[in-house]
Amino acid sequence: MTLTLHRARVVLPVDAPPIADGAVLVDGDTIAAVGTHDALSAAVRDRPDVERLEWDGVLTPGLVNAHTHLQYTDMAEVGRGRYDGFESWMNAFMELYPLPRDWAASAAEGARLAIASGTTAVAEIVTDIDAAAVVHEAGLHGVAYWEVLGWTDAAWAVDGRSTVVEQLRVLPTPPDAGLSPHAIYSLDTGVLRDLAGLAAELGVRQHIHAAESAWEDAYVRSGTGDLANRWRTLGRGDFALLRDGGAGHGVIPYLDSVGALTPQTHLAHVIYVDAEDRRMLRERGVSVALCPRSNAVIGLAPPPIGHYLREGNRIAVGTDSLSSSPSLNVLDDVAALYSLARQQGYAEPDLHERLFAAATLGGATALGLSDATVPTGSIRAGSRADLAVFPVDARTPADALAELVEHGSPRSLATIIAGRRHRPDTPDAQTETAHVAR
Ligand SMILES: [Zn+2]
Repeated sequence: MTLTLHRARVVLPVDAPPIADGAVLVDGDTIAAVGTHDALSAAVRDRPDVERLEWDGVLTPGLVNAHTHLQYTDMAEVGRGRYDGFESWMNAFMELYPLPRDWAASAAEGARLAIASGTTAVAEIVTDIDAAAVVHEAGLHGVAYWEVLGWTDAAWAVDGRSTVVEQLRVLPTPPDAGLSPHAIYSLDTGVLRDLAGLAAELGVRQHIHAAESAWEDAYVRSGTGDLANRWRTLGRGDFALLRDGGAGHGVIPYLDSVGALTPQTHLAHVIYVDAEDRRMLRERGVSVALCPRSNAVIGLAPPPIGHYLREGNRIAVGTDSLSSSPSLNVLDDVAALYSLARQQGYAEPDLHERLFAAATLGGATALGLSDATVPTGSIRAGSRADLAVFPVDARTPADALAELVEHGSPRSLATIIAGRRHRPDTPDAQTETAHVAR
């Protein structure tokens, strides 16, 4: 049996209007049709081989976590603290990070939590090779970004490129491998430029932490400030930005000057930006993965979601890791973005719709999955059957969407990845919990 008809009180296709008493017909790993239950049920009336499932909830595209580090799931102790800025958070993180730890198990637990909350694709940053197989082994979609940090131009010139190419080769596929130049302050200028070139040569995507702390701006602009001083104290004063007194402009134009801003790159956080920066990001087709709860834990400013929405930037949503966030549930960050957008004066009636799109199709776009041969990110015929079902009390499509966006859902009723149903409440997550209609 390969055909499954999923019926739900509400279906939210994301790139098409919501459907009350909707259904999605899945053929193997692909969506064959979406419509009202009446229409789809009639279409398969003469097919006794169709499995029919009825969900008491809302059926949506799977969530896309556009910025996470599943490997740090075991470091939730750090994320339970509250910090007054990036420096104090980093100190707490670095106290625990060097301790021996089973990174593979930590990452696997992160994947389990992500799937349990309705996530079907992730932008996973892999820092330690022991955690490299997590996305592959969990069967999630997305990109595993190999994190590159700590290289000076001089060290890079010796064997940087060959080292990174070798490391990329070790990442098991699928998913696609990508490059994550960690941040502008942890890599020298020439290294960032060469990584952008390498990514283009290899045809891989890039994902970079950017404009996350107020430190970064002074660091890039003039090679000054707390971050610059700290690096000099630690003996890293030979980075070009520190040696030459900065680049003379801010983070976003700097990334542009090294060729990093392309539609194949998406940035994480992107809090400390002005209108001109946001315009440049739009012009370059660069998505931003917003992680408001992580920003709050670390003690940073909230992301300018109101501006992003009003100006029309490409936005996606990420949880970051449990080392700076209370959960790996993307909908919890969507709820935080909803509150922030209203606080920042965004009063348009499309807020629910746009934030839910950011957490699904927006994430898929950021990861290059929305225009893949078999796309994901929305519910339409021909797309990958990456779906999630959430329990909601609301009866109408508009109320169901509002409930999901404003309050989230602690877990999904089912998470369906490439047509395969995962039951969130069991660790090995293999079968469904739907009422099977005969
Ligand atoms: Zn991060």
